[in-house]
Amino acid sequence: MRTADLFKHKTVFSLEIFPPKPDAPQRVIYDTLEGLTDIHPDFISVTYGAGGGQNGCRTISITSSIISRYHTTAAAHLPCIGLSKEQAAQILDQMQENGIENVLALRGDIPEGKQYSGDFRHADELVSFIRENYNFNILAACYPETHPESSSAAEDLKHLKHKVDCGVDHLITQLFLDNRYFFDFHENALLAGVDVPIEAGIMPVTNKRQIERMVKLCGVELPKKFRRIIDKYEHNKAALRDAGIAYAIDQITELIAEGVNGIHLYTMNDTGIAHRIYDAVHSLILPAMQRNAG
Ligand code: FAD
Repeated sequence: MRTADLFKHKTVFSLEIFPPKPDAPQRVIYDTLEGLTDIHPDFISVTYGAGGGQNGCRTISITSSIISRYHTTAAAHLPCIGLSKEQAAQILDQMQENGIENVLALRGDIPEGKQYSGDFRHADELVSFIRENYNFNILAACYPETHPESSSAAEDLKHLKHKVDCGVDHLITQLFLDNRYFFDFHENALLAGVDVPIEAGIMPVTNKRQIERMVKLCGVELPKKFRRIIDKYEHNKAALRDAGIAYAIDQITELIAEGVNGIHLYTMNDTGIAHRIYDAVHSLILPAMQRNAG
């Protein structure tokens, strides 16, 4: 199923996973998928390490298993940095041959101290390439707190609008911890004419090192309320996990009540967290008619 069609029926609830390390036994990913597919997510997306290589093969095989073995809609990520058009076409051909219908077209991060390489400078060029040569449903990324390389929110939004016009069907946001960023961004995106569904990316933050890394990498603001939780429970692993899950549930509850198109949960392959969050919010999920009202 094409992910963009899912939004016609209800608030979408989707999950993101990453391929396990190459030396992990194969059972690991099947245990993760069994744990995640039994909550019946609308789709699962699978990350892809920028730069291609072995990791990409695993992204394709895992995405294809989600579809064929678990009968669940799936999307494969594809970062284009460092790829030639021929390499991108080889990967996309392989995705197509493996029954994958949905591709999350990304640029990927430029390694520190390096220049752009490959045939694609930005994700919009990959989106155009896919649109011109294939029949995939195309997803892309967006940033409620502005991408760290952009000099302003307006500039980032201008590029986003162009990317969507190149053929994007559905957007997923970077994680954010303050819903106000999402609401402002969503309103501005609508005003700028971005007319595809935007899913809110939510990451349940359950350890201090993880959040410090995220803040540095993604430029995400830590709200005071969240910082107080981290400071209070940083030495109590179980309490921090509970607090991080409760915070994510709170965020999702407000987003759904405000009519968000969908929630994309960054699971970090933790099935226990995904279950706890899904159990807490699944009864809030709205049919499309109610979602769009008021
Ligand atoms: P772009 O859309 O190219 O934007 C990057 C920057 O360039 C922005 O500042 C934008 O404003 C600017 N820009 C865009 N177009 C133009 C233009 N035409 N001219 C000038 N400037 C422009 N990374 C991975 O390696 N693997 C993954 O699996 C992965 N999954 C992700 C999933 C989600 C939902 C998100 C939000 C991010 C993911 N990332 C992943 C990270 C992503 O690759 C980085 O955030 C990267 O820095 C930007 O990717 P992008 O596709 O948003 O790039």
